[in-house]
Amino acid sequence: MNYANLEILGITAPIGIKKYHDDGFVESLKGHIIKLNRLYDCECYNYIRVNELSMGKCASIYLNCHIFYIKQSIETENILVRAHEETHALDIFNQLDALAERLLEEQRIKINFKEIDESEVIASIGSLYALHARGIPQSEIELLCKMYGDGDSSTTAKKIYEQSKLSRKRSF
Ligand SMILES: [Zn+2]
Repeated sequence: MNYANLEILGITAPIGIKKYHDDGFVESLKGHIIKLNRLYDCECYNYIRVNELSMGKCASIYLNCHIFYIKQSIETENILVRAHEETHALDIFNQLDALAERLLEEQRIKINFKEIDESEVIASIGSLYALHARGIPQSEIELLCKMYGDGDSSTTAKKIYEQSKLSRKRSF
């Protein structure tokens, strides 16, 4: 049994015979895709696309899942980007339940990922989890998501996160 150690999410997940590779910060996403192309001698390039605004990528090639990303200028951005890609990986490994458990236990957020069919929204929820887990102020998280989130999916993720908050138990 192989395990994926997702550093920013702080989750270690069983992944069967699959393999997880956190390739870390790279100089260029396109350059790294070409490298992977050579490594696996495949034509992955045909289906792994990056747009100019992409800050990271999760590529699933045969039994391997690679994540890689561009270094951002402030630490919270790196958390956002890396947690996003790690959540894509968790999704590929069918292990989103581990994230759902964390959200519920630590942040009182009850989310059923099976009800969300957009992978970008799911990945953005992973970013929200990682930022909240580090005690980053709400206002800063909102600013980051506005600046770097990919528009619609980031907004939807925020809405789902907010609406999934369980009410606190009364203490009287
Ligand atoms: Zn994504």
